[in-house]
Amino acid sequence: MTEPLLKVNNLVKNYAITGGLLAREVGRVHAVDGVSFEIKAGETLGLVGESGCGKSTTGRCILRLIEPTAGEVWFEGKNVTALGHDALTALRRDMQIIFQDPYASLNPRMTVGAIIAEALIIHGLAKSKADLDGRVVELLETVGLRAEHMSRYPHEFSGGQRQRIGIARALAVEPKLIVCDEPVSALDVSVQAQVINLLEDLQEKFSLTYLFIAHDLSVVEHISTRVAVMYLGRVVEIARARDLYTTPLHPYTEALLSAVPIPDPKVKRKRIMLQGDVPNPINPPSGCHFHTRCPIRELPRCSASAPPLRETADGHWVACHLRG
Ligand code: ADP
Ligand code: MG
Repeated sequence: MTEPLLKVNNLVKNYAITGGLLAREVGRVHAVDGVSFEIKAGETLGLVGESGCGKSTTGRCILRLIEPTAGEVWFEGKNVTALGHDALTALRRDMQIIFQDPYASLNPRMTVGAIIAEALIIHGLAKSKADLDGRVVELLETVGLRAEHMSRYPHEFSGGQRQRIGIARALAVEPKLIVCDEPVSALDVSVQAQVINLLEDLQEKFSLTYLFIAHDLSVVEHISTRVAVMYLGRVVEIARARDLYTTPLHPYTEALLSAVPIPDPKVKRKRIMLQGDVPNPINPPSGCHFHTRCPIRELPRCSASAPPLRETADGHWVACHLRG
């Protein structure tokens, strides 16, 4: 058994909500509420759930772009959550992030060449100006752009090209893990597949490991080795991608899956409509967070206690009192 590259143990992140003139704390958003998972080297873990369920917060806590409230993140046997400033800077070479909105994450006043070169300079990865330029061109070509794009600015590119720039910047430091935070959600459907294919090619070429965040299951189906489904700050199901799509166990996963179009018109899947909106994470429902919308809930059991995530079959975990 190889040690996983990344281990997330009971990760918790609360955001304080302040109000009034004195900015007193008036509540807390329970954005991530005890999340655990592992990713092996070379794997892609898809992380899926409706908007606001804590996916980005999880991704950012892993890189310590934000500080977790509790829990641990382990990377290659190092406790990331305990690292000091210098060790963290070194670790940032190994872990990179690609954001949903490639425009907001690229400095509009910098040329594409400067944006990519910046990462190389910070980590001291170029010996000379010529070396630096050579690396930038190589990176642009690796993501399907060209050398002459170096001197242009982000606004001169399409959404898909901008995401390629973001990918080149992440690749510049030769990371081992990339957190892809909805990298294609802002792109036209026709462009989404191109960017996903590029990410798959790069994974193979550079032996990358991905945490691939998306809000719907169709996007992660082909790229993921395993998929974790989140609801209101908790992982409710995690399984190998094939198992999750063929035998989903959690009623929330079933509902998400029922919304995924099936290419074969002979196969029919009943659309499960969830009642109501996602509850407010400031005051999440008691017990199983999903019980207020669950079509199979049994009260008072489901509102009384939170079901633990347990393994029901080889590598297939579910958090439900009634399933598995
Ligand atoms: P997702 O990426 O799944 O859409 P997020 O991790 O962005 O979810 O957000 C989880 C919850 O935390 C949401 O309710 C969101 O409004 C809240 N949240 C995120 N960032 C902050 C912040 N800086 N301050 C307060 N609440 C936040
Ligand atoms: Mg997000």
